[in-house]
Amino acid sequence: MTDPAGRAGRWTVALAVLLAGLAVGWVSWLAFGSGAGDERPAPSPSPTTERTSGASATDVPGVAGSGKSSPPDPASLPLTGLTVALDPGHNGANAQHPDQAGALVPDGRGGSKACNTVGTSTDAGYAEHAFTWDVASRASTALEDLGARVVLTRADDDGVGPCVDVRGGFAQDVGADVLVSVHANGSDDRAAKGFFVIVADPPPVVEIDGPPRADDAASSERLATAMVGALGSAGFTPSGSVAGAISRRGDLATLNLAARPAVLLELAEMRNPDEAALASSEEGRQRYADAIAAGVVAWAG
Ligand SMILES: [Zn+2]
Repeated sequence: MTDPAGRAGRWTVALAVLLAGLAVGWVSWLAFGSGAGDERPAPSPSPTTERTSGASATDVPGVAGSGKSSPPDPASLPLTGLTVALDPGHNGANAQHPDQAGALVPDGRGGSKACNTVGTSTDAGYAEHAFTWDVASRASTALEDLGARVVLTRADDDGVGPCVDVRGGFAQDVGADVLVSVHANGSDDRAAKGFFVIVADPPPVVEIDGPPRADDAASSERLATAMVGALGSAGFTPSGSVAGAISRRGDLATLNLAARPAVLLELAEMRNPDEAALASSEEGRQRYADAIAAGVVAWAG
């Protein structure tokens, strides 16, 4: 916050700010009505994760809040009551800690695999872990705006792991209703392009929850279909090499160990020049994030 220096100038500036504030406040009053409690602090709409943005100074009545009206009634939002676990694939320090990342962990099918991997990157060096972190962060905001509670499998893009078995068990461990793992692919063929969605097949074999696992599998299929629809509607290209843009695999611990409906998104081919440009742009990543949120809404509805 800047403080206007000077004696006479201070009051001139203060008066100008006050008048501007009154003017904006008047417009807000006209636009939103006087009974909406424009200046009341937001009544913390839902027990969401750590959102640090949105706190607005209220020095000048009517100016705070960037012109936004008061928060919508949580009951009117499509995802109120739903907890979404988002899993940004890989992590920023995996490459520097090969022993830790390479340690073997259960794969959910009786075998084992590496704790975590480095992931792919664009030819220009934009890393998949940075892409997944940014998209998941943006998707988190979009989902929270729709009423969901969101939990992430990692807190930043500077660490190692978590291991894939932890990611897989994350949704049930934190009481989430659904798991969406965010990745991008790195086919050697630079002509390969398009997104696809992976579900566990055969359905997960975790020795918990018994009969509900069949329901989870069916729900994962519905979630995959919803994601394909949402990404397609957002203008993204479905993979030309995966039928229906839904891949069924049994080798991904993240999916095998999920005791909730779960999908893994391969949002882009990072070595394809067109999709590398898309993934490297903030606008592109926001579009991916919004499509993920739309997919969850379609599935939940
Ligand atoms: Zn990946």
